Amino acid sequence: MSEQTQEREAATPRRVVVVGAGMAGVQTAVALREQGFTGTVTLIGAEPHQPYDRPPLSKAVLLGKAEGSAFDVDFASLGIELRLGREVLGVRPGDHELDTARGTVPYDVLVIATGAEPVRLPGTEDVPGVHLLRTLDDAERLRPVLARQHDIVVVGAGWIGAEFATAAREAGCAVTVVEAADRPLAGALPAEVAAPMAAWYADSGAVLRTHARVAHVEPGAVVLDDGTRLPAGAVVVGVGARPATAWLAGSGIALGDHGEVLADERLRASVPDVYAVGDCASFPSGRYGERLLVHHWDNALQGPRTVAANIIGETPAVYDPVPYFWSEQFGRFVQYAGHHTSADTRLWRGDPSGPAWTVCWLREGRLTALLAVGRPRDLAQGRRLIEAGTPMDAELLTDPARPLKAATA
Ligand SMILES: Cc1cc2nc3c(=O)[nH]c(=O)nc-3n(C[C@H](O)[C@H](O)[C@H](O)COP(=O)(O)OP(=O)(O)OC[C@H]3O[C@@H](n4cnc5c(N)ncnc54)[C@H](O)[C@@H]3O)c2cc1C
Repeated sequence: MSEQTQEREAATPRRVVVVGAGMAGVQTAVALREQGFTGTVTLIGAEPHQPYDRPPLSKAVLLGKAEGSAFDVDFASLGIELRLGREVLGVRPGDHELDTARGTVPYDVLVIATGAEPVRLPGTEDVPGVHLLRTLDDAERLRPVLARQHDIVVVGAGWIGAEFATAAREAGCAVTVVEAADRPLAGALPAEVAAPMAAWYADSGAVLRTHARVAHVEPGAVVLDDGTRLPAGAVVVGVGARPATAWLAGSGIALGDHGEVLADERLRASVPDVYAVGDCASFPSGRYGERLLVHHWDNALQGPRTVAANIIGETPAVYDPVPYFWSEQFGRFVQYAGHHTSADTRLWRGDPSGPAWTVCWLREGRLTALLAVGRPRDLAQGRRLIEAGTPMDAELLTDPARPLKAATA
């Protein structure tokens, strides 16, 4: 071993413990091995199941088209120690120790990857027939509900609500979606962009009721605050998710307004030797000039590579992605890349009442975000144009027949 390698080995931590065995936790453990880390890697997860992927839960798994969605990772051969069914209850950064019901776990470096938990509808905790959709267990509980073809009320017309409604209609259930806002995806997209999506519900045979607030849920019915009583053999609540960080209380690790770990540009938490990644953490985006809290799959894939590089390497790796996600709803493939809040211009490619269209957001003539419905090529090209910051020609860009990459200025 050369002197340089010996020095590097001595400086590299020996025990990395990752808490949370979802996408971000698994990818962190895998990335550490891929990038040559030779110390101990321990992955601790609260759920008893073999680590699995969540996007199929609201799609193939829900409809029984796939049994499960376990990650195709051979943990043993990678030398990753899995401790499943074990919830971490607390962390004492000063002692470099985690607390669990079965004793303490020491670490040299800790990676927090505990993801997010669905927000519950207050007062529904003990009402039978009310479901969430976050875990494999949730999906397994919902499968027979779909098979029985109940009247189903979905609370929340967000990404999960739309995907669940899609699956329930496909299974032949009568579906009503109640949404407090005036449109679907009100928290994610501007009114004009989300407007065409409202029609997708009706086209699929689902009823979308906007401006509809739930007063309470009782066995067999959802009661709205205007007194309307909606019969419900089952209720599925999809009103958002919050970072799963309650276990960090009292640790001194800084949390943000949404309860997320405030990571820096290298995904380090506010105390030494602790990183945070995936749905549980926000990071400062140099690209967009604001802190981002991203609850999407691609972030839980990309962030871990930066974490692993920073744990192992001497050269700091900065996390500054173009965020990306997709959704499959009402027979459409919806994809989004970038971040549109600071854009100064919005342009359409194609007719939003048709099956395929794209919305582009620009800032000072450069693409900052795009939403593509049934136009995956726009998404792929647009993502690269955002990354490169290429100046665009607004007139060429609005021609849907022209490839996006040929609409540069
Ligand atoms: C039904 C569904 C469908 C989705 N579909 C899409 C999609 O189509 N496209 C897309 O881009 N994104 C989608 N997403 C979002 C995507 O799955 C998430 O962004 C991703 O799973 C985040 O990964 P994560 O590892 O950060 O968190 P999680 O997947 O939430 O994993 C965190 C893990 O940590 C465990 N944990 C929590 N607290 C503790 C503790 N104290 N001790 C030990 N373990 C703990 C949890 O049990 C969990 O298993 C979907 C999400 C859901 C729920």
